[in-house]
Amino acid sequence: MTVPEITLNDGNTIPQLGFGLFKVDPDETQRVVEQALEVGYRHFDDAKIYGNEAGLGRAIAASGIPREELFITTKLWRDDQGRDTAAGALDASLERLGLDYVDLYLIHWPHPGDGLATETWLAFEALRASGKTRSIGVSNFRIEDLEALAKASSLVPAVNQIELHPRFQQTELRAYQDPRGIRTEAWGPLGQGKYELAELPGLDAIAAAHDVTIQQVVLRWHLQEGRIVFPKSAHEGRIRENFDVFGFELTDEELNAVRGLDEHLRVGGDPSTV
Ligand code: NAD
Repeated sequence: MTVPEITLNDGNTIPQLGFGLFKVDPDETQRVVEQALEVGYRHFDDAKIYGNEAGLGRAIAASGIPREELFITTKLWRDDQGRDTAAGALDASLERLGLDYVDLYLIHWPHPGDGLATETWLAFEALRASGKTRSIGVSNFRIEDLEALAKASSLVPAVNQIELHPRFQQTELRAYQDPRGIRTEAWGPLGQGKYELAELPGLDAIAAAHDVTIQQVVLRWHLQEGRIVFPKSAHEGRIRENFDVFGFELTDEELNAVRGLDEHLRVGGDPSTV
């Protein structure tokens, strides 16, 4: 099974499907990542605040998989925002991961009240130049946050990682990002399990038509709309299921049916206040 690669605005490529590590127990992370690697995942989305970078690093080291075949993302947390602190935060993440570079480093949240996102971004430019991260991007940035970066720097984030699932589709933000070359990564692609996908009208019929699960339909919708996704599960069956999404294709009518489920309903944190 080959996962498609997406080319970022800096020329680097990222596997479109990966594995998310939010709420993966640090004590279980090595085992879960080893299972995911065995299934075929090569892209892992982590963050300092998840507390499990060391487990990811142990699994990578034990796998013997060449580093260049993996795509590793981690994120800078709020307490490390700032011009002089970002470099140390990346070094500490690399130390925990046991790596000498990550593929993608993100500002985790804008925290507009702190007013540090822009100067953190200027520090990120230097981190990319140092080679300790191949690409740089942001997460949970609103249009106004992206505009503030654009005023201060000509370097456009490679991605913005945002909450996005059938009931919260962020069409306005995506319409801003697409023409500027900012790729959308969808976090909580399955709604974080905070609502029952099965209760959304029409998904069960689409799943039955393709002999797949509703979760596979939703992941397929993300992929066919061009987004980067990394669902999370600690259960082997679901880890396999979420990777098995390349053997069927949704029709335009089916894609439109999923698009019609948007309720502008956030289930996670609001970037204005987090
Ligand atoms: P998700 O939408 O991937 O949902 C995960 C939950 O869905 C699981 O805990 C499980 O309960 C359920 N699930 C997963 N696969 C399933 C399946 N096949 N069948 C039935 N249920 C299934 O939510 P998430 O983990 O929050 O998001 C994915 C990743 O996005 C995270 O792990 C993390 O890497 C990233 N993320 C980033 C931010 C951010 O602020 N940047 C925030 C949240 C998540």
